[in-house]
Amino acid sequence: MKRFIKPDILAMQAYTLKPYTYRHKMNQNENPFGYPEDLKAIVLERVAQADWARYPSFTLDTLREALAAHNGVRREMVLVGNGSNELIYVTLAATLRTGDHVVIPVPTFSVYGLLARVFGAHVHEIPMPPETNFALPVDAVIETAQRHQARVVVLCTPNNPTGTAYAPADVERVAAESGALVLIDEAYREFADQDFTPLLERYDNVVLLRTFSKAMAMGGLRVGYAITNEALARELHKAQLPYALNLFSETAALVAIEHFESHFRPLIERLKAERERLIPALNALPGLHAYPSAANFVLARFDRPAREIFEALLNRAGILIRDVSGYPLLAGHLRISLGTPEENDLLVQTLAEILGAA
Ligand code: PMP
Repeated sequence: MKRFIKPDILAMQAYTLKPYTYRHKMNQNENPFGYPEDLKAIVLERVAQADWARYPSFTLDTLREALAAHNGVRREMVLVGNGSNELIYVTLAATLRTGDHVVIPVPTFSVYGLLARVFGAHVHEIPMPPETNFALPVDAVIETAQRHQARVVVLCTPNNPTGTAYAPADVERVAAESGALVLIDEAYREFADQDFTPLLERYDNVVLLRTFSKAMAMGGLRVGYAITNEALARELHKAQLPYALNLFSETAALVAIEHFESHFRPLIERLKAERERLIPALNALPGLHAYPSAANFVLARFDRPAREIFEALLNRAGILIRDVSGYPLLAGHLRISLGTPEENDLLVQTLAEILGAA
């Protein structure tokens, strides 16, 4: 049976997430405060009035118009997808041929490398070691892209799972000098002080990816979007399945944008404040180092085996975090998504007990 499967796929490890029983979910960089209840009521009422028998909007013009206004761009520059994962897939499907070269600084979100391999590309991973605080090795990225005439460079900023925000000047240099399509994944942009939208005016090889799954507390509803120049948006759209969004997700996304300033901005500010509280609290504990983060999660390196710490948190307090110690360069590391203030306190307290500081 396997003879039908492409060698690239046979050689791949599947992207999986092991199920665990937990009380506090701090493993997927979600918004712990959830989608606001009053907005849920608005979404449910609108969806109840819609005709479920009919296909949703084909062009999603209302949502794309709202996103264009929200992001200060034109509607024709916006593509909406079933999570930003779909738009990573669409972008790579529209660009990569078998044997093409892709450059990805690692450690980063593993889906890019996985999908690039699905499309038969050679993936060049550029290491970002912990000793450099995971800074973007911009010269190596550009040099590798030029040498292999790479078709795509993927930059995730703030980067998952390190939390690193790349220097904007470095990102711009990659756009200017790599000769590749530069996919900038901004899934965590709302937690950072950077905005790459202006690059779209200066470079025609840039695609920005954004999502409702993190700051907008809609991981369960699967809405992401891409912003690029109009010509590229038209071409990428050809590789997309019709009706990527269902009317429920479309409605929840619209309502979220309509209430962004009143409902989501305060949650984002609270999470950023939690981050600034959590990092020094972690660093005050013995046997670990928490890195700076521009996202809604914190990466930490432990002196003791990471797996032991991961399991102790789960067994003692039901806290589920992400074991990233198997990622390239991340032996000994765990990633902690910000929880509610109570959850973050519980995390620090439990870690203190585990590490013998309590
Ligand atoms: N990009 C990055 C960097 C992510 O961390 C994630 C989610 N873990 C995604 C994209 C996918 O997000 P979604 O498909 O939910 O929009």
